Amino acid sequence: MAVTINEEACVGCAACIETCPTEALSMVNDKAVVDAEACVDCGACIESCPTEAITE
Ligand code: SF4
Ligand code: SF4
Repeated sequence: MAVTINEEACVGCAACIETCPTEALSMVNDKAVVDAEACVDCGACIESCPTEAITE
């Protein structure tokens, strides 16, 4: 499993990327994307996102 990122809600602030302990998140065309194999479902990015773009 991995988190889901709503592209339309993402404003590219990168807060989630700095929060992720496994470096599962990266920025592509100013939107956060998740590497499903690296994500350990810790939920840290969900808490960090100001626009609630990330969900389980
Ligand atoms: S749930 Fe945790 S491991 Fe997965 S992308 Fe978010 S911060 Fe990274
Ligand atoms: S914290 Fe939210 S708005 Fe910011 S880059 Fe990540 S998904 Fe996008």
